[in-house]
Amino acid sequence: MGPGVNVLFDVRRPWWPQHACQEEDLPLFFAGGGMANRRPATKTQAKRDQAKEICAGCPVLMQCRRDTTGEEFGVWGGLDQYQRYLARRALTKRAKHWTTETWLMWGRELLKLRDRGGRPSGRS
Ligand code: SF4
Repeated sequence: MGPGVNVLFDVRRPWWPQHACQEEDLPLFFAGGGMANRRPATKTQAKRDQAKEICAGCPVLMQCRRDTTGEEFGVWGGLDQYQRYLARRALTKRAKHWTTETWLMWGRELLKLRDRGGRPSGRS
C-alpha cells in the first residue's frame, strides 16, 4: 500500500498483546469450523457463547471487533462467524445504494473510531 492510503481497519493489530483469549481457549473460539454463512448447531453455539464470555472481559474488545470484521472463521471481538457474516451482508446491501459522499463519511467515521481506540464518541 502506498503512502497516503487510508485503511479502514488496522492490519497490524497492535492491540493483540493485551488480548484475553489464550491458546487453550482455541477449541471454544473456533468451535464447529465449517460454513460461516450457516447458523451453527446448538452444541457449537454453546461453545462459541463461552468464547464470547471471554471476549466480554477483554480489554481490547472494541479494537478487536473493529479490525476483525473480515475474519471468516472463529469468534473475534465478541462476535461469532455467523454474526460477522450477517453484519457484512447487511453492510454490503446498504452500501450498494451509498453515494460517494456516504462512502467517504463512513471511512472518516471509522478512522475517527480507530483514533479513539475503538471507543464511541462522548466516552473516555
Ligand atoms: S476480544 Fe475476544 S478474540 Fe479479541 S482479543 Fe479479546 S478475547 Fe481475543
